[in-house]
Amino acid sequence: MKIAVASGKGGTGKSTVAANLAWTCAQRRAVTLADCDVEEPNLHLFFPAPAAETPVTRMVPVFDEELCTHCGDCSHFCRYGAIVVMKDRVMLFPELCHSCGGCMLVCPEGAITETPVQIGRTEERTPMENLRLISGVMNEGEANGIPVIHAVKEAISGDETVIIDSSPGSACPVIETVKETDFCVLVTEATPFGIHDLELAADVVEALGVPSGVVINRSSGDDAETEAFCRERNLRVLMKIPFTREIAAVQNRGGLIARDLEGWEEAFADLYESVCSEVGA
Ligand code: SF4
Ligand code: SF4
Repeated sequence: MKIAVASGKGGTGKSTVAANLAWTCAQRRAVTLADCDVEEPNLHLFFPAPAAETPVTRMVPVFDEELCTHCGDCSHFCRYGAIVVMKDRVMLFPELCHSCGGCMLVCPEGAITETPVQIGRTEERTPMENLRLISGVMNEGEANGIPVIHAVKEAISGDETVIIDSSPGSACPVIETVKETDFCVLVTEATPFGIHDLELAADVVEALGVPSGVVINRSSGDDAETEAFCRERNLRVLMKIPFTREIAAVQNRGGLIARDLEGWEEAFADLYESVCSEVGA
């Protein structure tokens, strides 16, 4: 079963929920934790261990100046503005290139080939028995993290129990991460902004046809508006994590409440069971 953990915005505690859930599952069975928040992966901070790195590349065009007639067809074709053709040379702005390969197809002279460039890496760790952590890391300055997300998803494709931490928000990286998962845990805070962002994330997950439920983090005990929203959208509230000094202290030092505070391993085990019952697993 593949469970995605997402949120409409950063800072809601999404990664904390993913890490606690994975730690709890690892007490019972083999589990893979995947960090698809490739711009800012942080799950390795909960689970420090040596990493084996694998580069992630994508293809970009290379121009043969001997064959090129500077006709401009490739530049006209490229909708991302990645190619500029001048009188005596062709320039590529690789950070704008989406690696579609189209310029190579339209070049009448066969002057374009492709070459791989590294845009990031995956890091694999085994921080404890039963837990495999795969993190996607995008190179600084890269605009498109989707190939890194694909590489992480490829690495976890055969694993049985997988928890995937998504990027925050509701844009393409979230869609790439959540699609084809069995369930999505939406982490939110019980504030008006939290409900707004939850709605955006819930819309994306619903459009993908992935069943979902909600974890309310930093609950003050008065979550009536969030609960009303969840009822309206037919989203089950799977868990509440209260806003207490004790929990905040554990989280602020990078700890795991499931491991460090009494009763929370059972609470996260219940969360996993709730997800299983929602998907009929
Ligand atoms: S389409 Fe081919 S020949 Fe024309 S400018 Fe581009 S690389 Fe040169
Ligand atoms: S591969 Fe596609 S996106 Fe990249 S430069 Fe060529 S046409 Fe543009």
